[in-house]
Amino acid sequence: MIVPRPLAALLARVYCRTTGSGSSSSSSSGRAFSGVQWFSSLAEPELKVCIVGSGPAGFYTAQHLLKYHKSSVVDIYEKLPVPFGLVRFGVAPDHPEVKNVINAFTQIAHHDRCSFYGNVSVGKDISIEELKQAYHALILTYGAEANRILGIPGENLLGVYSARTFVGWYNGLPENRNLNPELSSETAVILGQGNVALDVARILLSPIDMLKKTDIATHALEALAASKVKRVLLVGRRGPLQVAFTIKELREMINLPGTCPLLNPSDFEGLQQMIKDLPRPRKRLTELMIKAALEKPSEKEAEHRAAATKEWGLQFLRSPVEIVPSNDGKRVAGIRLAVTKLEGSGKSAKAVQTEDVEDLECGLVLSSVGYKSYPIDPSVPFDQQQGIIPNNLGRVLQAPGLYCSGWVKRGPTGVIVTTMNDGFETAVSVLEDVRLGSLNVSASKGGFKDIEALLKQRGVRPVSFSEWEKIDAVEVAKGEKAGKPREKLLGVQEMIKAHP
Ligand code: FAD
Repeated sequence: MIVPRPLAALLARVYCRTTGSGSSSSSSSGRAFSGVQWFSSLAEPELKVCIVGSGPAGFYTAQHLLKYHKSSVVDIYEKLPVPFGLVRFGVAPDHPEVKNVINAFTQIAHHDRCSFYGNVSVGKDISIEELKQAYHALILTYGAEANRILGIPGENLLGVYSARTFVGWYNGLPENRNLNPELSSETAVILGQGNVALDVARILLSPIDMLKKTDIATHALEALAASKVKRVLLVGRRGPLQVAFTIKELREMINLPGTCPLLNPSDFEGLQQMIKDLPRPRKRLTELMIKAALEKPSEKEAEHRAAATKEWGLQFLRSPVEIVPSNDGKRVAGIRLAVTKLEGSGKSAKAVQTEDVEDLECGLVLSSVGYKSYPIDPSVPFDQQQGIIPNNLGRVLQAPGLYCSGWVKRGPTGVIVTTMNDGFETAVSVLEDVRLGSLNVSASKGGFKDIEALLKQRGVRPVSFSEWEKIDAVEVAKGEKAGKPREKLLGVQEMIKAHP
């Protein structure tokens, strides 16, 4: 495994101090590993850990603990009967390669010191206090499942959805299965210019023949096949130098069959001179936008554009002020945007609204302005302002024995690899606390045995990993019949019934 440098330094800090050898500046992973072997050869007392949430943060934190503490026992609790969080319900269906991490997570779940308990909603079926009694350490990795709202008039009209809900709908998330989004008009507006916004635009515009080979939910495939949406505009408050999507996603949009970019050349003129000294990823991303907007297309590109029947565009320096209702006041007819100007430059540039406004006609508005976490139990400290659990390197502040990792720890940004590093960082904090004695592991803990009794009293039936594998087999078999990698089961009860 390649250990990223800052993480290797962290490991070295913990393990080299354990061995008393080496300096904390050692950042070679080999060195860290030799320290680990020494550390784990001690007769350590059992460390019973409970992880809440089975997304990337949950699995990567578990992996690190299992690997570096040979007497650790890790139980992962998940509110749905199925594991993997946003890897299953967020990652776009046409990005199957991203979902390969599921193979690594499956290996972790098969570890003889790891167990999965799905269909257990922490904070509802079982309290944090009860889990604290049963485990030495409790690690919260329950993600960021709430929406950030726009806070503008018209937000509740028919045809306005959060990108989170829309993504959940096409990815078969049980709570979003009945969304039935309004797809009967030609123009859709997406508020936001990040990767999730581009995912949503791509799914709205992709040829159905491409989508039907993916694990997209069938109800979404059917609705998208009948969709009238031909034009998707992604609106951002700031300029081209502040977009939050990455080059891979932009390239996919530019090359999307049947679709052509609708970029305003004046947004990009003069930018070439400004990007010379930018960090390479930002420079390359901007160059690609400039090329698409200003350069004469190659013969192949011209053919691609000529064959296009759909289009997508980026609207910069615009901020939504109102969603305009239809005459009957029920549905979206358009969106009013304030023109903004930038104060400052680069990443930290701020958009300030001017008095100018313009209206855009559209029948679908998707807000992709971010996710946020929520508190799951009143006993856990929570920073309402930032929407995260306040912590120091994953240690929940003023709550000994309580840790967090992933999006609930640092906010809803970053890809799976970022979340992996974050999970490792939290695991290192737990191990450090065990070593220093600040996490008390002297008392023996009942772990799942204690929790099982409580769940039974409450009529909650946990789903084990081998039961999930039966659900998985049912989904894959259903998918095979339809020429798809899987056909996801859509209801919690349906999932539970799928394993005898
Ligand atoms: P999550 O993945 O959200 O996992 C949290 C888990 O906790 C869930 O399974 C949830 O059901 C569970 N849970 C919630 N509440 C409770 C409770 N009360 N009790 C028990 N369990 C609970 N990254 C990439 O690298 N590539 C991509 O292509 C990509 N696409 C993305 C697309 C979308 C739409 C989104 C939103 C994100 C995408 N990401 C992608 C980012 C990636 O998904 C995140 O970095 C990662 O999933 C965060 O992991 P997490 O474990 O913190 O949260």
